[in-house]
Amino acid sequence: MTTHEDTTAAPDALRDEAEGCLRALAGERARLREDQWTAIRALVVERRRALVVQRTGWGKSAVYFVATRLLRSRGAGPTVIVSPLLALMRNQIEAAERAGIRAATVNSANTDDWEAVFADVSAGAVDVLLVSPERLNNPDFRDLVLPKLAAGAGLVVVDEAHCISDWGHDFRPDYRRLRTLLADLPPGVPVLATTATANARVTADVAEQLDGDALVLRGPLERDSLHLSVVALPEAEERVAWLGENLDALPGSGIVYTLTVAAAHEIAGYLADRGFAVAAYSGQTEPAERLAAERDLRDNRLKALVATSALGMGFDKPDLGFIVHVGAPQSPVAYYQQIGRAGRGVDRAEVVLLPGREDREIWAYFASLAFPPEPVVRATLEALDAAGRPLSTGALEPRVDLSRSRLEMMLKVLDVDGAVRRVKGGWESTGRPWEYDRARYERVRAEREREQRAMLEYIATDGCREEFLRRRLDDDAATPCGRCDNCTGRRRTASVSAAGAAAARDRLHRPGVDVAPRRMWPTGVKDDLGVAGRLAPGDLAETGRALGRLTDIGWGNRLRDLLAPGAPDADVPAGMVNAVVKVLAAWDWERRPAAVVGIGSRTRPRLVGSLARRIAEIGRLPFLGEFVPLGEPAPRRHNSAQRLRSVWNALSLPDEVAAAVRDADGPILLVDDQADTGWTLTVASRELRRAGAPAVLPLVLAVPN
Ligand SMILES: [Zn+2]
Repeated sequence: MTTHEDTTAAPDALRDEAEGCLRALAGERARLREDQWTAIRALVVERRRALVVQRTGWGKSAVYFVATRLLRSRGAGPTVIVSPLLALMRNQIEAAERAGIRAATVNSANTDDWEAVFADVSAGAVDVLLVSPERLNNPDFRDLVLPKLAAGAGLVVVDEAHCISDWGHDFRPDYRRLRTLLADLPPGVPVLATTATANARVTADVAEQLDGDALVLRGPLERDSLHLSVVALPEAEERVAWLGENLDALPGSGIVYTLTVAAAHEIAGYLADRGFAVAAYSGQTEPAERLAAERDLRDNRLKALVATSALGMGFDKPDLGFIVHVGAPQSPVAYYQQIGRAGRGVDRAEVVLLPGREDREIWAYFASLAFPPEPVVRATLEALDAAGRPLSTGALEPRVDLSRSRLEMMLKVLDVDGAVRRVKGGWESTGRPWEYDRARYERVRAEREREQRAMLEYIATDGCREEFLRRRLDDDAATPCGRCDNCTGRRRTASVSAAGAAAARDRLHRPGVDVAPRRMWPTGVKDDLGVAGRLAPGDLAETGRALGRLTDIGWGNRLRDLLAPGAPDADVPAGMVNAVVKVLAAWDWERRPAAVVGIGSRTRPRLVGSLARRIAEIGRLPFLGEFVPLGEPAPRRHNSAQRLRSVWNALSLPDEVAAAVRDADGPILLVDDQADTGWTLTVASRELRRAGAPAVLPLVLAVPN
C-alpha cells in the first residue's frame, strides 16, 4: 500500500491522474473544479472525512468516483456507497461502468445475488458497492456483512446525508444506523457525505456526526435556469383548470407535484381527458409501472408526470422543462429540493407554485403521523417484554394502537435507541431502559412549524423568490435572481376561463370512488374471533362506492367538515344526496339492489339514517331497517386487528330486518357514513350474506384516501 508521503510529494501528478479519471467518466472536455479537487484531495491524500453541500448537478458523484479510482489504484478496498433510492443507483451504476469502475448493488430486490456479490468483493473484483439504507437495519446484514465491509472499505460515501439529521425535512430512521457504522470504521478510512439540501443547522449536525474535524464544503445553491413564480387561485377547480390551460405553454416535459395520492390521480385523469400525455405516479404505483412512467418522461413521450413526492431524489432528467406544484410542500427546503430537478441541462425552466387553501390541513395530517406519544411506545415495549419471544410486526399490530407503517417507523427508532432489536422472526425487547426523548420530538415539531410558516412567507413575499429559498438554506451568497415573477414584475395569469373552471369542477366533483372489499382477515385475531386467512366467498361484499375521499380536493373539503369529530349530527345535505344519486346512477353493478339497509350510528344517527332513507325513497326501494349499535362507542382504533375486534360484536342485525333481507331476494345496498378501515362494512356485509342476501353493495359518503 502506498503511503501518504508518496501522494503528497507530487500533488501535480496526482491532480493529472484525477483529471484523467474525470475525463474517462464525463468526457474529454471535462475539467475538475477547484472545490471538487479540494474534496478529492481531502479524501485521497489526507484520508479525511468531508461533507459536501452543493446544488444538484454540481458533480458530487464525480468526486466519489474519481476518489475511488485513485484510492483503488493505491491498494485501498472498495468504496461503499449508502444511497436511499434504487433509481439513483441505476444511474450511478451506468455512469461508473462507462468509466471502467466495477459496481455492484445489494438491496432488498436482489438478495439471491448477494453471495456472488460478496465473493466478488472478497476477490477484489468490485470497486464500488452500492447499499440501500434499509439494509443497515436488516439483522443478517448488520451483524454478518456490515462489519466485514466496514473493515475492508477504502472509502465510505453517504449520499443524501441530510437524512441522518432529524433536524432535516427528510429524516429517515434507517440512516441513524449510519452513526454506528461511522463510529466503528477503522482509523484512516475517508468518509464523504453529500447533500444538496441542508441549511446551516442540518450541515452542522451532519458534520458533527461524521467527526468533529470534518471538512465542510458548501457551495452557492443558485440555479440560473430556474424562473420561479406563484399563482394564487382560491378554488381547487381553478388550479386544475389553470393546468389544463397553461400546460401546453410550458417548455418541454415536466413534473406536476401534488400533496396527496388522490390529487395525483384526479389531476392526471382531468389532464388525460383533455388530451394531454400524462401519467399519475405515487408511492402506491406498482414498481414496474413507475419505471415505465419515468422512462416515458425521460424520453419526452409524456408532457408531464403528475406525481407525489414519491418521484424523488433518484430521478434525473437534465432537460426537465418545468415543475408545477398544485399545493405547497410544507418546507422551503423540501420545495427547493423538488424544483432543483428542473433545468439542470437547459437554459430555461419554469417553476410554478399553485398554493391551495387546504394545504395547511394536509400538512397537519402529515404531522399527525410523526413519532407516537409515550404511552403508545411504552405499550409496545411492554407487549414485547410480556411475550418473552420475538414478535413480528403483524403480531404486534393488534396489541398496539398504530397503523403498520407508523409501527414499523417507531420500531426502527427504538432499535437504533437500543430498546428493541430486530431479530429473525420479528422484534424483541433488549430489556435496556429507554427514555422518551420528549425534548427531541418537541424540537422537531417546533422546527416543522417554523418551516411551514416560512413556506407561507414564500407564497406571500414580494421579494425575490429564489433569494428567499436560498436564504432559508443559509446560502450567504444569495442575491436577487432577476428572473422570478417578483424580480421581473411579470406575473403569470392568475385566471382561468369560465368554461375551463366548469369542466374542472365537473371532473373534480364527479362523484364516486371505488371501495374495495376486504378479502383477508387481519393476523392476530384467530384466537379470540376465530377467523383467519381469506374471507369465505359467501361472506364477501361487492366492490362498493363512496362519494369521495377525505383527502380529495373535490368533495374532500365538504366531507371533512361534515364528518369532523364533534360536528353536529344533522340530516344529510340535499346537494350531497343528489351527488350520491349520481354515484348510484354511474354504478355498473351486475344486479340492481332490491332493498336498502343502514348501519345504525351512535355518533351520527340522523346523518346515516336520513341518507339511507332518502336513497331508498329516490330509488323506489324498500328501506328494511338498520343494524343496531351495541355497547359503548369504541375508542378510535387505527389498525386492522383492533378495528375488527371493536366492531365484531358492536353491531346487531334485528331479526325482523334479517327476515326482510331474506324476503327481498336480491342484492342489498348497505349504507354508512364512512368506510375508514372497512371492517364495519365487512362485518355487516357478512351478516347480510348470512341472512340470505345474494350480494351486498356498500355505499358510503367518504373513504379516508
Ligand atoms: Zn428573483
